[in-house]
Amino acid sequence: MLSIKDILKKLCATASPSGFESETAKVIAEMAEDAGLSHSTDALGNLIIHRPGVGRRVLLDAHMDTIGFLATFIDEKGFVRFDALGGISVCELHNIPVKFLNGTRGVISYEQKTELKDRKMSSMFIDIGAKDEKTAREAVLPGDAAYFDGELRELSGGRIFAPYLDNRIGCAVALHTIMNLKKCDYDVYAVFSVQEEVGCRGAKTAAYAVEADFSIVLDVTDSCDTPCFDGYGETGMGGGAAIKIMDAAAIAHPSIISALVDTAEKNDIAYQRDVITAGGTDTGNIQLSRAGVPTGGISVPVRYIHSPCETADMSDIEAAAKLLRCALETQSIIL
Ligand SMILES: [Zn+2]
Repeated sequence: MLSIKDILKKLCATASPSGFESETAKVIAEMAEDAGLSHSTDALGNLIIHRPGVGRRVLLDAHMDTIGFLATFIDEKGFVRFDALGGISVCELHNIPVKFLNGTRGVISYEQKTELKDRKMSSMFIDIGAKDEKTAREAVLPGDAAYFDGELRELSGGRIFAPYLDNRIGCAVALHTIMNLKKCDYDVYAVFSVQEEVGCRGAKTAAYAVEADFSIVLDVTDSCDTPCFDGYGETGMGGGAAIKIMDAAAIAHPSIISALVDTAEKNDIAYQRDVITAGGTDTGNIQLSRAGVPTGGISVPVRYIHSPCETADMSDIEAAAKLLRCALETQSIIL
């Protein structure tokens, strides 16, 4: 049986910048098939795994896309100019290795004349090592997508880092849970959504199609525990599963918040209350689908979100998975 860390490693070895999620979807679908679960893919590319049940219909959502880069043009010296897929700060992009989906590797760097404070995506480029424009065009064309070139690595004390823990973690929590659920009457649909990082687009159509009685979104949240963190919350690495109260796009349904808190306390699962005022998740679009869907979330605190070195604590990931499994198996959410 695959552990949640095994699943995470497999997902971190794939690429899925927003709009280009098919490789990751294939790996998730293969693991679901091995566990005897059926799956389908909708028109936008959302992967939907179904575990039938006779009870309330539950939508579990984890976005499988990641931030990335899109080539916009090749300049006369053979450097690839680009824009961001999703929210990326230029501060994260100084001499960083990236890889295009076609296998071409490169380094993101910047025009030397621009001061750090004046740097924009338009004054940066990807150096793919091409001698001139013609050679560059043989490797990369406008519209080709790239991503941070890195893998999952271990730190001390059960901590890990990788470029795309947002949201490989949510996908691993959802997949591990649906693969290992016992005695659950809920009719469970696990949606691995596309294009969250560019506006939570996939969750919108998937939520319409599933027509759930309620929904739980699995994602990451800011870990506000680094030196001089210029932030706003109390969530921190090692504090347990983060039960969503609010993000910038949604206020979680009170019955789901209290059911998750209750489940965590009854089952001795470490948890923390998650309030973030910047950054939304799929929660916002799901709760506004059709005539409204009561929605909550279980998140995992991550440091340095949207950088090449997103960092998390395995104990928080295990706690999030245990909380989700217990909530579904005890059917503690009654709506
Ligand atoms: Zn996310």
